[in-house]
Amino acid sequence: MSELTVLELGSDPRERGKIHGREMRAEIRDNYATYIERFETGGAKECAVLEQSDAWAEFIARDNPEYADEMAGIAEGANLSLTEIAMLNARYELAYCVFGSEAKSLNSSAANSPAANGSAANSSATNGSAANSPAANSPAANSPAANSPAALEQEGCTLFGLMPETTASGHTLIGQNWDWLAKLQGRVFIMRVERSSEPGVGKPDFVGFTEAGIAGCKMGVNAAGIGLCVNGLVTSRDGANGFRKPFHVRCREILDAWTFDKALLPVVQTDRCCSTNFLIGHADGEIIDIEATPDYCSYMYPVDGVVTHANHLVCETRIASQFERIAPHSLYRAHRLERLLRHSGGEIGIDTIHTLLSDHFSAPASICRHPDTTLPEPKRVISVTAAAVDLSARTLYITDGPPCQSDFQVVPLYPSAAANDPALFTNNAALTSNAKGL
Ligand SMILES: [Zn+2]
Repeated sequence: MSELTVLELGSDPRERGKIHGREMRAEIRDNYATYIERFETGGAKECAVLEQSDAWAEFIARDNPEYADEMAGIAEGANLSLTEIAMLNARYELAYCVFGSEAKSLNSSAANSPAANGSAANSSATNGSAANSPAANSPAANSPAANSPAALEQEGCTLFGLMPETTASGHTLIGQNWDWLAKLQGRVFIMRVERSSEPGVGKPDFVGFTEAGIAGCKMGVNAAGIGLCVNGLVTSRDGANGFRKPFHVRCREILDAWTFDKALLPVVQTDRCCSTNFLIGHADGEIIDIEATPDYCSYMYPVDGVVTHANHLVCETRIASQFERIAPHSLYRAHRLERLLRHSGGEIGIDTIHTLLSDHFSAPASICRHPDTTLPEPKRVISVTAAAVDLSARTLYITDGPPCQSDFQVVPLYPSAAANDPALFTNNAALTSNAKGL
């Protein structure tokens, strides 16, 4: 069985990036080519994407200089331009503008449907306020509206959060299948970053999963027991707010936090370029799921210890959810996973999670996702990885590929058995609280 690469990185952001760039050079170049191909499939030309990427690089340099420094290190290590690395790190913003455009093209091709009529007002409101926005200026805005519904496909993930009272270990667990372009399989890795072992001082150590070329980890846990998982969302407002802190920078800032409130801040403090669902948990038994659209945040909390989410808005009613119009499998994946978790026959262990994430109901558009061979190759999606994050043990359980084909690889933040004692982390959490005077 193949395993994901684990890179050991340190506290200097430029050096972190250089090692990342050097060790994953081939994968970074392949990912770059894959995203350019995907954007072109959505109607966007490489030169226009790179023009946007330059603007994002400048924005990130102002917004989070440490993140920008790490991107510069990746570019140096991979022998690519900063623009090309910025494209990867802002690819969520670039991609979701493309997908938003595709969803709107569905609206215009289904003008007589109640759903299309319902979102027409939103679309015109978006257009009215979109001046100077990335979406308005982006190549996506000029993409052809000729995509047929059958040709459309995009990112989809199914995530969960489990409170301690539901788990066999008594630990707080979060996790997900990360379903994205099939070509990305094998071009992802784990970074284990050692920055500060003293609670509350500097930025915490963390272990997380990312794509080659991208500094911000989408799933992970830090030394304070704070972890995250994410889903893509699509709304008609995506891109309308102009340049805002990019998704991957927010992901990194969540893992930079020593306390739970500071972990929520990167999501809720500023409005957003595009929509994302963030599930953020704490080892001491807290989980909040945030549906973060460009202008609003809505919050879901575990019910009887369990929360799940997929790629459509569940509690946000102020804006229309677009994703399910192109990918209706979102409507059953999270609901099904919740039911399977609740009826799994007792307290939930890591093995049970692996089994449930391998569920194949309505395959290939199942919780365990497999490529739809009727789609063009650049749009085919697979569960690139399945992850369970044990926040209490600061440990990542992760697969290389769909969970039905791969066992969990165990990647603790602290590999030594002594350091991996949850009781020790509980003490650290108390020390952290004291250090902050809370
Ligand atoms: Zn499968």
